[in-house]
Amino acid sequence: MVDFVPFIDLAAQRERIRAKLDAQIENVIESGKYILGPQVTELEQKLAEFGQAGFALGCANGTDAIALPLAAWGIRPGDAVFVPSFTFASTAEVVAWMGASVVFVDIDPDLYTMDPESLRKAIEMVEADGELRPAAVIAVDMFGQPANYPEINDIARAKGMKLIADSAQGYGCTLGGQHPIHWADVATVSFYPAKPLGAYGDGGAMLGKDEALHELLKSLHVHGMGADRYEYARIGMNSRLDTIQAAILLEKLAIFADEIRARNEAADRYAAALSDVVKTPKVIDGGVSTWAQYTIEVDDRDGFRAALAEKGIPTAVYYPIPMHKHEPYAKYPVVTGGLPATDAAAERVVSLPMDAYLDGERQQRVIDAVKAAVG
Ligand SMILES: *Cc1c(COP(=O)(O)O)cnc(C)c1O
Repeated sequence: MVDFVPFIDLAAQRERIRAKLDAQIENVIESGKYILGPQVTELEQKLAEFGQAGFALGCANGTDAIALPLAAWGIRPGDAVFVPSFTFASTAEVVAWMGASVVFVDIDPDLYTMDPESLRKAIEMVEADGELRPAAVIAVDMFGQPANYPEINDIARAKGMKLIADSAQGYGCTLGGQHPIHWADVATVSFYPAKPLGAYGDGGAMLGKDEALHELLKSLHVHGMGADRYEYARIGMNSRLDTIQAAILLEKLAIFADEIRARNEAADRYAAALSDVVKTPKVIDGGVSTWAQYTIEVDDRDGFRAALAEKGIPTAVYYPIPMHKHEPYAKYPVVTGGLPATDAAAERVVSLPMDAYLDGERQQRVIDAVKAAVG
């Protein structure tokens, strides 16, 4: 049996803030305020501040965080929502929930985020066809780095479309010092445990800047509640952020800036050691990534992963099958000319261990194993 290094060392973070986490959890249990307790409001204020947003609103997970604004804007059948195919299921799934049409867009082959040129082509295609109304764009901060918001925002605004930053992996990332909400109408976060800002269960949040939208989202995430608790102004859902998770996240957010710094140092060490032997990740000019994943490209991915596993190094593939190739999504239009960068990335990407506590001997073991596998 080889001794495996962790893919994400959540235990190291737990060790660092154990006493504070335990006190927060106990405090919620003793208080009895399990649903929308004061920790939720406190966290929302701190999330908004950290992400330079007008407001933050907690919800049950990062998937609902994208669905709720689409519902608030009345996205419906006949609407086209432009989404990269190289993403996690949620980004496309929520569009289908609204009965709207996903339109798949390609990525930049070096950044893995939405290619603005491909977005332009996809809009042209939809307009020429005339069946669907261009309604919204969902850009994804893939692997933690900001999408090309200045360009994507210009394109979306010119067509009167809404823009969501799916920042499930990228909360805390910046471009020219600005957070995604500087450009987007809503930026979303996932607190799934493996994300850079992860809870000890499911959770999510929406960041925004328009107070009317804030009020609408507050209502929608508690069953469409009106002025009174049991008066329903609209059809909503139950998607609250759990109080215990909020309490845990207060402690994790307090060290998050330091963790982002540490993740960037780990990424720099990977790049210094590996950029001569494999395709290492690039970050957009002026961007700061949260490094949700450190993703390289290799020719023989199966062989590479087997060689690393033999040395106790876990790897992961995000994502082996792009969304447009999954059966339920095959009916949705793909940009003219297809998705060559998406298809190539899906065959070649592989992610290495990454977290804020990756250094020293553990990182050296990964570096040595990668060099041996491709050497
Ligand atoms: C994780 C993730 C989501 C969904 O978050 P959940 O909290 O698991 O619902 C959405 N989009 C992207 C890009 C993600 O990585």
